[in-house]
Amino acid sequence: MRIVVTGGAGFIGSALVRHLALDLGAAVLVIDKLTYAGDRRSIAACEDKPGFGFLEADIADGDAMRAAFDRFRPDAVMHLAAESHVDRSIAGAAPFVHTNVVGTFALLEAARGYWNALEGDAKAAFRFLHVSTDEVYGSLGPNDPAFSETTPYDPRSPYSATKASSDHLARAWHETYGLPTMVTNCSNNYGPYHFPEKLIPLIILNALEGKPLPVYGDGSNVRDWLFVEDHVRALATVVRQGQPGETYNIGGKAEMRNIDVVEAVCDLLDRLRPDPAGPRRRLITFVTDRPGHDRRYAINPGKIGRELGWQPQETFATGIEKTVRWYLDNAWWWQPLREGRYAGQRLGLLETT
Ligand code: NAD
Repeated sequence: MRIVVTGGAGFIGSALVRHLALDLGAAVLVIDKLTYAGDRRSIAACEDKPGFGFLEADIADGDAMRAAFDRFRPDAVMHLAAESHVDRSIAGAAPFVHTNVVGTFALLEAARGYWNALEGDAKAAFRFLHVSTDEVYGSLGPNDPAFSETTPYDPRSPYSATKASSDHLARAWHETYGLPTMVTNCSNNYGPYHFPEKLIPLIILNALEGKPLPVYGDGSNVRDWLFVEDHVRALATVVRQGQPGETYNIGGKAEMRNIDVVEAVCDLLDRLRPDPAGPRRRLITFVTDRPGHDRRYAINPGKIGRELGWQPQETFATGIEKTVRWYLDNAWWWQPLREGRYAGQRLGLLETT
């Protein structure tokens, strides 16, 4: 297959590109603006693979997108480019509206023009997969059933509002123009190459350096965690087998309170690399909660399991151990980012996504 991946230098995008190019042998064109969150080192292993290409561009540049599609001739577009950090969206929503809403619109229009000009089997086989989040569904109470594909949208942060908007655009382009779009909504991801402003890498790296481990509120917010390599296997499954116009929820059936996640990381590090100063749980520090912080997300991945046969391969215990070991072995990747070459450190914020 020939696949365009937008946002392919980001956390999930790079895992997807590695899976497509290295495991599945697909020809991949990465389109990425290389914001603070994009890092070509994360896909360096793919750059010499046959059919691999990298285009540094803004997805909101519709002409550049259409020209790239006409040149590369993709069978599918997998759209992951986004501004993705909730705290940044609270500090300033403009880039979120630009990339997540205007950018998705421009990309859909470019894909529509390209798809309209296709013929026969190529036209029938083309897919546009829009990758989104479970945060569009809002917040659950402790006893509410998990989000399903029919849960009404209730976005509550600027980030989730822009993602909800882009989901509606992707569905509308199917209903209105027939463009074969599909939408996936996934729970919180974790794993290698995760930017160090996000909760799990932040906790691993602060704990290694003996720094405070900030936890919002009382740490009782619940998230449903999925190992990133399980997510990208799900995305590759949907793009090959999913039905146009359909939505698939993706989750790891691993609901955890934030405090339990942080304690699990502390205990794992204590086992793998003991700290002479004592157990790392001593570093946990509760900080003032984020405004409008959603209490609980949980996702029901029944449909993708039933219809497409996807199941996560990692439990939280196995996935978090792989993740912690990766950070212990790959300081070359995260050290430069920790040393201040990104704006997140200036914000000093903590993400639970
Ligand atoms: P990320 O922030 O790590 O990466 C985003 C990538 O998009 C970066 O490489 C960045 O340079 C690029 N980008 C940003 N604006 C762009 C633009 N205008 N044009 C081109 N490229 C641009 O994000 P991520 O965590 O890998 O998330 C990827 C996608 O998955 C997002 O759409 C996000 O909403 C969704 N998602 C993320 C999670 C999660 O837990 N991280 C969960 C569910 C869904």
